[in-house]
Amino acid sequence: MKISDHVRMVPVPEDQPMRPTSTNIYIIGQRGGQTLTIDSGEAIDKFRWMLRGYLAAIDYSEIGVAAITHHHFDHSGNLKHVREHLKAEIAVPENGLKLLKRQLPKNNEGVKTFTDGDEINLDGGLRVQVIGSPGHSVDSLCYYIEEDGILFTGDTILGNTTTVVGDVNSYMASLRRLLELPNIRILLPGHGPMIRDTDEANARDRLEMYVNHRQMREDQILEQLQDGDPKTSWQIMENIYGDSIDKRLRRAADGNVQAHLKSLQKSGVVKASRGVKKRPNPATVAKNKAKDKANQKIIRQGKKLEKQAMNNALMQQENPPTDTWKTPPTYQLR
Ligand SMILES: [Zn+2]
Repeated sequence: MKISDHVRMVPVPEDQPMRPTSTNIYIIGQRGGQTLTIDSGEAIDKFRWMLRGYLAAIDYSEIGVAAITHHHFDHSGNLKHVREHLKAEIAVPENGLKLLKRQLPKNNEGVKTFTDGDEINLDGGLRVQVIGSPGHSVDSLCYYIEEDGILFTGDTILGNTTTVVGDVNSYMASLRRLLELPNIRILLPGHGPMIRDTDEANARDRLEMYVNHRQMREDQILEQLQDGDPKTSWQIMENIYGDSIDKRLRRAADGNVQAHLKSLQKSGVVKASRGVKKRPNPATVAKNKAKDKANQKIIRQGKKLEKQAMNNALMQQENPPTDTWKTPPTYQLR
């Protein structure tokens, strides 16, 4: 999908509640010039095929730099693949480097780091600015093309929902900083549809909505604590969200409530009891681990058989139907 003269969006469809609608890969640059990609999807085939197919369709065969918005595996999973098959140089957040070990090539070969304030200069004078936006994760980065008013937001802003926040204070500071950018017309999120200025929607309004939303959650949490009864984060989450969210998002919602409580604790508004951790029974842990291992083995075998069956079916297409005919009919002119 063409977003501007310089930017294309590759939305890869998703059916998981944590990744609303799609996981997006972005391709930036001009034909024949150096290409930058932002995020590269999870390490499974559908992302690889979508990216390669898309590059082929627009006549790009290589990626100059493959950058990511943060270390989470649905954004960084294919870095090794793009290095190996598309010869890309890899760029990751400086403070995400230690969080990324398994996604990176051996000895970090071909890997460079980006940090707040860096710039990427592409052919044709196109300038992409790197903006540190911690909050969703410690290493979150946004990328910004001022001349087009385009902001690549990763998971800091999502297309059609609010996001999971790791650290509320730094998240709010990041949002406020993004609001100060001189020209914002299009937000390109890591998941879900883009948000662009139209008659009904406005990219800057969306950023403000996120700030207001977090403020509203904080107020709701404080309201829950007004009666003086101590509550767990889960109880607070249930009281606030009720049945309004997909049950599969309740852990994520609880995580957001915890992030708010931590920040309220830091500012001295809220205090917490220590809680008592469960001590897992070593025998049960070992048993579950063994079971999991056995299941993984079956899954691997199943996948292997599935692949074999597919290869066999393909092989059959290439060869004469000897399984049906001992001697196939022959044809000649009467
Ligand atoms: Zn993420």
